[in-house]
Amino acid sequence: MTAQIINGQEIAAKKRLEIAEKVEELKRQGVTPGLAVILVGNNHASQTYVKSKEKACKELGMYSLLIEMPEEITEEKLLAKIDELNADPEIHGILVQLPLPKQIDERKVIESISPLKDVDGFHPINIGRMMTGQNAFLPCTPYGIMVLLEESGISVSGKHVVVVGRSNIVGKPVGQLFLNQHATVTYCHSRTKDLAFHTKQADILIAAVGIPNFIKAEHVKNGAVVIDVGINRNEFGKLCGDVAFDEVSGKAGAITPVPKGVGPMTITMLMYNTLKSAAETLDRK
Ligand code: NDP
Repeated sequence: MTAQIINGQEIAAKKRLEIAEKVEELKRQGVTPGLAVILVGNNHASQTYVKSKEKACKELGMYSLLIEMPEEITEEKLLAKIDELNADPEIHGILVQLPLPKQIDERKVIESISPLKDVDGFHPINIGRMMTGQNAFLPCTPYGIMVLLEESGISVSGKHVVVVGRSNIVGKPVGQLFLNQHATVTYCHSRTKDLAFHTKQADILIAAVGIPNFIKAEHVKNGAVVIDVGINRNEFGKLCGDVAFDEVSGKAGAITPVPKGVGPMTITMLMYNTLKSAAETLDRK
């Protein structure tokens, strides 16, 4: 069997067109969606992510504000900046690029962002709202995975979904989104015994581990849908996922590649959340 390749780049491009159209509509009503990104220090990977976010905003006709702060900034100053952005009517989304330097408490920073502008979906209020099935900003990577499946015509209800990884930004929330859509969900992590026993039962297998080529053909049931969240470098410095693509694609029914799988969806859903936030300011008027 050769797996269907789920093309995240194509699906992201389609979604971005829809977002751009809605941005135009909102602008006609006098609201330009605005995203503020705070970058602390000069972590190279963070700088790259922030640039892609700025570029996406511009392409979609949104307002983007980049705030760069030095590595040694105090927590107090960072929190004061967030307060200012919370009160700024031109800003609908606030994102603080993680990781932050050691002197700053990440949780405190996340909780200081207004839940109404928390377009990353990391604030406990949004997480709680997501868990209870209420209107919320959904975290971008998990949300992107759900959109990939929907756009690929892959149904979720009644399926057994096995998530490998339980981080707060990917593993835990993606399992919750599947549960909200009536899947049966199993979580695996570093203490799971006999990982393959669990993963082989998956109709849909999500790999969010951060170890290059960790999921092999022996972990996968024939015909399963395999979603690879990993963004890693292999021993030759080449970008690769958590799934050994060549061997698994011979067994899976559908699979996301790395790159051009889940990756392009993350920023797309960030743009979607910023648009949603801007649209909701009109509803509150
Ligand atoms: P974390 O390091 O926060 O979490 C990794 C998870 O994998 C943990 O829950 C850990 O278990 C589990 N794990 C580690 N080793 C094993 C093992 N041997 N067997 C089973 N489970 C194991 O990573 P993230 O969730 O932040 O990211 C995961 C991957 O996704 C990374 O490659 C990252 O770069 C990528 N990523 C991609 C994004 C995208 O846009 N495509 C966005 C975000 C992340 P335990 O909890 O027990 O330690």
